[in-house]
Amino acid sequence: MSESDVVPRVIARLVQHTDDRAAEVIHEAACAAGYLWRCGNADCRAHNYRGQRYCEGCGWGRSGRPVGDITPSLYDVPKQKWRALHRAVVAHFGQLDGPMPDAVVFDYFDGPGWRGAEVRTMHGGQCAEIAGGFRDRTVHEDIAAALDALTRFEKPAFGEHMRLVLSA
Ligand SMILES: [Zn+2]
Repeated sequence: MSESDVVPRVIARLVQHTDDRAAEVIHEAACAAGYLWRCGNADCRAHNYRGQRYCEGCGWGRSGRPVGDITPSLYDVPKQKWRALHRAVVAHFGQLDGPMPDAVVFDYFDGPGWRGAEVRTMHGGQCAEIAGGFRDRTVHEDIAAALDALTRFEKPAFGEHMRLVLSA
């Protein structure tokens, strides 16, 4: 078992056997040790495990505000290109049955620019992978075109991450 599997169990078990005050001390120690981080949303303040990019509870980052549309913003994407992607993604989920995701996150590892990115939706901090992402131009014509436009502006680097907030 990896550390990321064990640590949540250990912390949960320690907390289970203590009162609130001791639990707070355990959480603080775990934060100081880097096993946990605290949500920056003042209304939430939930503890999240290392490796989670966004808060489980509210989907915010640790910096105390919602993560912006592009995170990290390594370059200034022209706003038009950005809006085109936002529109296309909102239209896509509007067609589907079910709630609009809070955000869609893209992780680029390889493939034809942003269109090759792994894509996950976020609902209240819960992630779900979209199998195949928006790679297929014939299925996701508008989104693919918008992603290609971003890529033409600047090709993403390996491991680059982008979050598109839909609920804001
Ligand atoms: Zn939170």
